[in-house]
Amino acid sequence: MKYTSFLIKYGEIGVKGKNRYLFENALIQQIKYALKRCEGEFKVHKAEGRIYVDVLSDFDYDETIENLRSVFGISGICPMTFAEDEGYDKLREFVADYAKKVYGDAPEGTTFKVYARRSNKRYPLDSMELNAGLGEVILDTVPALKVDVHNPDITLYVEVREKIYVYSEIIPGPGGMPVGTGGKAMLLLSGGIDSPVAGYMIAKRGVKIDAVYFHAPPYTSERAKQKVIDLAKQVSKYAGPIYLHVINFTDIQLAIYEKCPQDELTIIMRRYMMRIAETIAKQTGCLGLITGESIGQVASQTLASLAVTNEVCTLPVFRPCIGMDKLEIVDISQKIDTYETSILPYEDCCTIFVAKHPVTKPSLEVIARHEHNLDEVIDDLMKTALETKETIVVSQE
Ligand code: ATP
Ligand code: MG
Repeated sequence: MKYTSFLIKYGEIGVKGKNRYLFENALIQQIKYALKRCEGEFKVHKAEGRIYVDVLSDFDYDETIENLRSVFGISGICPMTFAEDEGYDKLREFVADYAKKVYGDAPEGTTFKVYARRSNKRYPLDSMELNAGLGEVILDTVPALKVDVHNPDITLYVEVREKIYVYSEIIPGPGGMPVGTGGKAMLLLSGGIDSPVAGYMIAKRGVKIDAVYFHAPPYTSERAKQKVIDLAKQVSKYAGPIYLHVINFTDIQLAIYEKCPQDELTIIMRRYMMRIAETIAKQTGCLGLITGESIGQVASQTLASLAVTNEVCTLPVFRPCIGMDKLEIVDISQKIDTYETSILPYEDCCTIFVAKHPVTKPSLEVIARHEHNLDEVIDDLMKTALETKETIVVSQE
């Protein structure tokens, strides 16, 4: 079948009242971003309160569907054909042709119904008459099919509008909200499995993502940094272009290593990561931080540790993996194609400066006291880290 258009269904955003057009425009923008990676020429447009993707050239069907399925806000994708309204006889021919091409090989006894909608009220037949008349045409064209109006295998939608649209398949989209409708947040992106998943999940709710990565050369390699860029790129398939800030964290880590107790290294380091991330977040209009933390996964993610880490932030910290088991997180990372990159073995800074027996029940008071060991140097180190940050725009384009 040569489809000429896709009807885009959007569940949740359909109900947003007066702001609906903002949501639709964001969705259109994200659809255009996704289609740039596809071969072919497309026109994305709104007509009569719906969004259509018209195909203007040769195109790769599977590639187009795959990329549309990465657009948050889409609940369903309906491949369809359309024709000018040239009278009922032509419509019958059009529907017969569609049925033959799409269901010509359907097994004997496959059931169907026609679901016609007539929003052009001047059309000479009403919906009931269209259902009956076009059903008959289909039975004549593909004798293997049978009518079942209650529980059909196939529903053939025929919409009589300015033009006539026919479709019978609704391919599920990812759901969620279009990116850009929910503000912006700063993702702490490491090279691990969890943080790309966390970014994906928050982007799914319509939030635009910026990211920060703490790099510790020469303890962490260029390849470790490239891995994070690759992960950001994969997340940008869903989240749109990402500003990735790379912070040189080496001197801060060395200072902590030198001046603070071994078993508190990780937690103190995490607190400085959060402080720096929050500073950049506030400078760039982000309204929250995002991490891949999950309760109990490691010593720095016990409730007590999370509380001590959290204490340095005033922005809300979103932790969408917080209640998930590792296997559940792995599942999502495989689905969004970050897993294979995440498990590449390059060291990250936490694995190098980690203590053998990190505290699992840190006391805020004790940690804060030990951080005072850094008083003489930390302001300058933080300032330098922020001033020397490298910002990379990562996108699929
Ligand atoms: P991940 O798989 O996301 O790396 P993890 O299990 O390795 O998680 P930690 O290393 O303790 O957990 O880090 C917890 C969270 O802190 C990460 O999910 C990430 O959001 C953030 N984080 C850790 N290291 C870095 C880093 N080098 N740069 C940026 N963020 C980091
Ligand atoms: Mg990690």
